[in-house]
This record gives sequence, structure tokens and C-alpha cells, in this order.
Amino acid sequence: MFRQYNQSSWRNFRIFLASVVVALTFFLALSYERISTRDYLTNLRSDLSREVGIIRARIEGTINANANTSRAFAAILAAHPEMENDHLSQIASFLLNGSSRLREIAAAPDLVIRFVYPLRGNEAALGLDFRKTPSQYGAVKKALSVGGTVIAGPVTLVQGGKAFIIRVPVPSQQPGKKWWGIISGVLDFDTFLKASGLDVASRKFDIALRGADGTGAQGTPFLGRGAIFANDPILADIAFPNGAWQLAVAPAGGWPTHAPDYLWARGYFAAGGLLMLAIILGATWLVQKRQQAEAVLASAIEAIDAGFALFDADDRLIAFNSNYYDVYKAAGYEVILGTPFITLLRNGLERKIFPDAIGREQEWLSERMRAHRQERSSIEQHLASGRWISIRERRTPDGGSVGIRVDITALKQAREAAEAANRAKSEFLNTMTHELRTPLTVILGFTPILSNLGTMPSVRALQDLLDRPDADIDAVRKAVARVVAEISGFATTMDRSGKHLLSLVNDILDLSKAEAGRIEIAPTALDLDGLLATVVEQFTPEAERKGIHLGHQPSGLSVLADEVRLRQILVNLVGNALKFTDSGEIGITAHDMGEQVEIRVRDTGCGIPEDAIDNIFATFTQIDTSDTRRAQGTGLGLAITKKLVTLHGGTIRVESTPGKGSTFAFTMPKPPDRNVAA
Ligand code: ADP
Repeated sequence: MFRQYNQSSWRNFRIFLASVVVALTFFLALSYERISTRDYLTNLRSDLSREVGIIRARIEGTINANANTSRAFAAILAAHPEMENDHLSQIASFLLNGSSRLREIAAAPDLVIRFVYPLRGNEAALGLDFRKTPSQYGAVKKALSVGGTVIAGPVTLVQGGKAFIIRVPVPSQQPGKKWWGIISGVLDFDTFLKASGLDVASRKFDIALRGADGTGAQGTPFLGRGAIFANDPILADIAFPNGAWQLAVAPAGGWPTHAPDYLWARGYFAAGGLLMLAIILGATWLVQKRQQAEAVLASAIEAIDAGFALFDADDRLIAFNSNYYDVYKAAGYEVILGTPFITLLRNGLERKIFPDAIGREQEWLSERMRAHRQERSSIEQHLASGRWISIRERRTPDGGSVGIRVDITALKQAREAAEAANRAKSEFLNTMTHELRTPLTVILGFTPILSNLGTMPSVRALQDLLDRPDADIDAVRKAVARVVAEISGFATTMDRSGKHLLSLVNDILDLSKAEAGRIEIAPTALDLDGLLATVVEQFTPEAERKGIHLGHQPSGLSVLADEVRLRQILVNLVGNALKFTDSGEIGITAHDMGEQVEIRVRDTGCGIPEDAIDNIFATFTQIDTSDTRRAQGTGLGLAITKKLVTLHGGTIRVESTPGKGSTFAFTMPKPPDRNVAA
């Protein structure tokens, strides 16, 4: 049989599949995005780190170059502390116009500015005493205390703008005095930005610098937004003499949250997910349609009012309906999908469900397989359960086969019954012809003689006697008596034959009436003993002639029956008993069975063979139908008898032992109890 088809479970299954696909796609897309973002950020970081390295190198280069310029100036002054300003200006001019980016340089012996180059625009600086200028004294003091270069700033200059100030202490040559003074190189902030490439880099990245006055990572920011430090930037420490800055670089606008192609990736995943969804839903739709078709086919096959089985090209059972299943289930085994046809047959043979195969299994199997392999075959199969199955098989174009099983048990039985009835009717016709012809032949045998009395020897003798003139009256009387005796003998024989014919015709009429339901009975309360006595009396001469004892046992019972019909029943049964008994006795007894009275007619006759007893009450049945049979009859007596008994509400049965005798017993209702009724 087929799988069950369920619309709603399919819908649920599809919703489940769609959810799985959506969830899976979402999960994959998310994982991919996470990995690609991480890779992208890693690459970005390493690219940026490289950039940061370059920027740091340029910053350090710029600072160191300018610090070196300042240190060179300091070294000259340390060697020639008494050098004239003009001479100093020449040296400063030489140094500042070289590779240096310093905007100006100042010398402050004893921490008071006495020399500035270039002087123009910086005149105000001359005479500035660092000790009295707190905003600058810190860095100056630091340079003196560490004894080396200190980068201060950026600071806002008196003359405007922002700049770093490189302070270089100048040692003193005078004994007891450590420092001659200090050199200050001013590096313009914007120049610094340009020289270190920070101006260009700032356009590409978020850049910040902190550690004003060389205070390193702890110092305050002096370039870019301080917030950049909090945004996970690439950090680089920029080291210079006696101080450090910290450089922070992050991609412009902050770190990206996705790889640049993430929208495309999402699009690809969405498209892939949709495609997968379409394929899966399409596939489930096809499977569903197939199952739906199978379900339609299965219900159609199930609706067939016969057993249906389908075998594939390998001869395996691939579909069957419950009628098919039931046929074999009733016969004793369960058919299972996938079983090869030959295995089904072998299973059946093992369980002996095919009676006609018993004892010739191999032969039967090959005959059955031969029929099965034919293009079309039609078989009637008898099963051990007693059922008959019509099997029709036909090959399908793909090499399989379709089989239809129809239970024809009833048909078979009806056919057998019809055949039996037909046989009985033919036998009846034979019998009837014979039975009717015998008395008719007798009658017709006498009529020519009677219509032409002159041909009778006795009549001729009488005529001869009368023609004689000396006819003796006594002789004439005797001749007349002979004629009369001969004619009355003929009449008696004709009468008997006529009566026999009449009884035959009456039997046929009775039966046809009974079959048409046209016999009406008028039951009255009858005294059984009286009725039985008259029947016994009727048959006594015949019984005596055969030397059989015939009698009945008085019972004092009454029955409620139609007198004429009850007599007919008894006459039939006693008549049959007499017919089929050659010696011994025939006894009639009546028995009180409660509601009914059972009347039994027992004989010691030839009895009835066992195989004939079931059919004995059927119409036209005679056990011995040969022309040479011992007793006359039509085969109608018992059929009529049974119908009459049934009409009274009774039943009839027979027990018989061949060679020993038979007992026919029938019941009749009792009349209502008068005492109870009163
Ligand atoms: P028939 O007119 O041929 O007797 P019945 O219907 O009365 O027809 O009987 C049918 C057949 O039953 C008889 O032909 C006979 O073979 C068998 N039969 C009936 N009664 C007896 C009996 N008492 N003993 C043996 N056979 C009997």
C-alpha cells in the first residue's frame, strides 16, 4: 500500500525547512561577515602600522635634525662663549639656512636672552630672563638639570604662532660655574607638521600626538583629537633626547565596523539563501505532488471492489489494496510490499492454501508462473479456505504486471447449484417422460382393441357361437361372460394407469403451486391416532402383499394441521417406505416435543447413501435414476413433503443407514391448549 498523504504536515514540514534554510543562511552570512571583518581589520591594522612606522621615523628625524642643529650651535658657543653677536649671526645663519627647519635660535648666557637670530621681528625676545618667565623656566630648568637637550612645547610664542622650543644647555668653561647658559631653537609647529609629513597624513588618517614637553604617553595631547587615543589606535612612542611623545593613528572617521564589501556579501548570501530556499521548496513541492498523486492512486486502487496488486519489472509487489490483502489474510498469510511474486506463491504452497497444488507443488508452481508471465491470463483458483478466486493478470508496458483478484465463491456455488438444478431437471424430464409414457402406453395399447372389439378373440368366439344355428345358450352365456371379463380386465388396467397418470400430474401441479407459494392450508386441531389409523389402513393391502408389517403406535397427541395436507405428507413418507422396503417393518410413532409433535416414519428398507442424504429433499432428486430402477417415482414427493411441512411451521429431517433402513421425522405444531385458553 502507499504512504499516507497529509496536507498540513507537508505545510509544517515546508515551514520547518524554510526556517532551517533562513537560519542557516543567516548564520553563515554572520560568520562570514565576522571573519571577513576581522581579516579586513587585521590587514588594515598592519597597513596602518607600517604607515605609523614611517610617520614616527619622519617625526623623529625632524626633531633630531633640529635638535642636532641646536646642539651644534650650543657646541660652538661652549667652545667660544665670548663670540661676538655678528659672528654668531653668521654661524646661526649658516646653520638655519642649511637643512635645519628652525625658525629662530636664541642664546641666553646666564639664562637671559642676549642673542636672537634672525633679529628682525624677534627684538622683543632680547633681554628675556628665563628665571622671571615661569612659562618657559620649567623646560629650561629641566634641560639644565638633566644636562642635555629638552624639547619643550608646543608653546604659543610671544611673537605669535605655535612652536617647539629645543633647549640645549651650554657648559661653562669658567671654573666653578657649570653652565654658561642655554640655547633655544624654535621649531615652528606648522613647519614641523610639514617636515614630518603629518599634514598630509592627517588628511588620510585620524592622527593625534600627546606628551607635550616630552612627557610621553602620560602627557597632554597637542595634535589632533585626544579622543583618538580612546578609539583603539595604532600607538607608537616617539623617542627623542630626554623625552618622548606618543603618536596615535586610526583610520579616518574611526575603525570601520565591516569590510568594505559587506553589503555585496550580504547580497550574495541573501541570493544564495533564496536560491537554496527555492530549490528546497521546489523539491519538496515535487515530492508532495508525487505523494499526492500516489495518495489519489492509492485511494482509487483502494476503492476497487476487487483485490488489486501491482508488480514491478523485477516481479516484486509494489502496490496492493486491502481487498487483495484480505484474500490472502483469510487464506492464512500476510502479504508484504516488496515480496517477489514467486515468493508469494511459495509462501502459499508452504501453508497449503492451494488445494489443487498439494502433492504436485513444483508442477503447479511452474504452471502458475507460466500463466503469470503471459501477456494476459485468467485463472480460477480454489483456496483451502473454501473460497474461489478469479485471478486476471495483465502485463504492463514497463515489464511489470497488474493482477485483479475477485472472490467468485458465491458465483461458483451459484453456478454449481444451477448446474445441479439443470442436471436434476434433465433427469426429471427423463424420469417424467418414462413415468408418463408407461401408463399412457398401457392405455393406448387397449384403445385400438376396444374401438375394434371384433378383433378380440373372445368376441370372435362369441360371434362364431352365435353364427351357429345350434348355438347352446349356456355356451353363449359363457362366451359373453369371457368377453365381459376380458373387457373389464382391460378397463381395470386402463383405470390404474389413468390414476397413476393423474397422481403424477397432481404431484407436478402441487409442486408448481408450492413453488409459486400458492398452496393454502387451513389448520385445525386433529387427533393424530385417528388420522394415522386411516393411513395405515390405506397401505395395509400393499404391505401385506409385500409381507411387511405396517403399524402405528397410538400416542393420544393432537396436532394443528391441514388434514388433507398432513395426510398427503404421511402418504408420501409411508408410500416411500413401502416402495424402498422389501422386508421387515414400517412403524409410525408420534412424540411430544413440547411446543411441537414429532412424527417419525421408520422403515427397514434399503436406506439412503450418505452422499445423497443432503439432497434428498431437493426437487427432482432421485438416488437411482436408471431406467431399470426398482421403484417408480418422480423425485417430487419429498420436495413437496418438505414444502408442506414448512408451510405448517415444522421441520423435516432424515436419518438413514444404507442397507438397514431410514427414519423420516417431521414436526407439526400442537393445537392451543384448551384448558389454558379457557
Ligand atoms: P419418488 O417419487 O422418486 O419417490 P421422492 O422425492 O419421494 O421421489 O423420493 C426421492 C428419492 O429419495 C427416492 O427416489 C429414493 O431414492 C429416496 N427415498 C425416499 N424415501 C426413501 C426411503 N424410505 N428409503 C430409501 N430411499 C428413499
